[in-house]
Amino acid sequence: MPRPENPQLIDTFGRVATDLRVSLTDRCNLRCTYCMPAEGLDWMPGEQVLSDDELVRLMRIAVEQLGVTDIRLTGGEPLLRPGLEDIVARVTALSPRPRLSMTTNGIGLAKRAAGLAAAGLNRINVSLDTVDPETFLKITRRDRLSHVVAGLAAARDAGMTPVKVNAVLIRGLNETEAVPLLKFCLAEGYHLRFIEQMPLDAQHGWNRGEMITAAGILEMLEAEFTLTPFPAARGGAPAERWLVDGGPGDVGVIASVTRPFCAACERTRLTADGAVRSCLFSNDETDLRSLARAGARDEEIADAWRATMWGKLAGHEINDAGFAQPIRPMSAIGG
Ligand code: SAM
Ligand code: SF4
Repeated sequence: MPRPENPQLIDTFGRVATDLRVSLTDRCNLRCTYCMPAEGLDWMPGEQVLSDDELVRLMRIAVEQLGVTDIRLTGGEPLLRPGLEDIVARVTALSPRPRLSMTTNGIGLAKRAAGLAAAGLNRINVSLDTVDPETFLKITRRDRLSHVVAGLAAARDAGMTPVKVNAVLIRGLNETEAVPLLKFCLAEGYHLRFIEQMPLDAQHGWNRGEMITAAGILEMLEAEFTLTPFPAARGGAPAERWLVDGGPGDVGVIASVTRPFCAACERTRLTADGAVRSCLFSNDETDLRSLARAGARDEEIADAWRATMWGKLAGHEINDAGFAQPIRPMSAIGG
């Protein structure tokens, strides 16, 4: 099908990508068992990683030419990127100004939240899978729960609200944490989102039979709370939401595996080494870094980005017999 003249990131299924996920680094200071092995990974060599100028240029092209309205910084661990505050300030100075958010493990956030907010960061999602220190150590292989809890409070105090908490439940590790996590988030005013575990770990250890499904999570929560479906429309947002005990607190579940939301997907992705991807699960990437370093004009880069998104597949196919896990792990794509 020929691509119609349209400046936006349209695909053959009529979707328009307006939400850009940018990975700032593939490095991390935690070792979540469902994400990477204890020894870490072979990190990208420095010369392969986009410089600040290259990164900001690609985000500028996305905003100015491709209709991107929302940008989320992620990784790896985005707080490990040198000069993060400066990148935030440069991106929020773009016109039209994108809404800017970040997904982080929260280590070091306590000291930096106020500065990030002052630089223009609008919102933060902090990943936290347990409120029990021993379980935290087992999951992340680091004894840092108190740092994350302090980081969350600092994000709230800096006004980057609503502060969201992302949690992944793993059988045999933290499956009993659903209720304590929700109690903690309700008490602190954070919005909790459970994410179904996906086949994106570097070790390829994901097992469908072992994963805790959205239905299983809801069953655990309903034993303790009354959940009523959230009145607002879901739109392109991946989380299905429920009011807890009549509100105002709520809880969400992102059922990427058992209730895929690909038909409403509004995302495009940029890796730390400058590859554009139309989906977390695609193996098709376009190397914008080489184009940029070879002297391509903004319009040429924008066209390459549009062509990648035009080829976006209908869905991730995790539930199909022939599904193959993508070559890059989550930490090197940007979760
Ligand atoms: N390091 C940051 C963090 O943990 O928030 C940002 C990157 S991390 C890859 C982004 C999100 O992906 C986290 O909430 C993490 O829990 C989630 N994640 C990592 N591996 C996953 C997997 N296999 N399935 C589902 N979610 C996963
Ligand atoms: Fe690091 Fe985030 Fe992966 Fe945990 S989920 S190892 S914090 S990148």
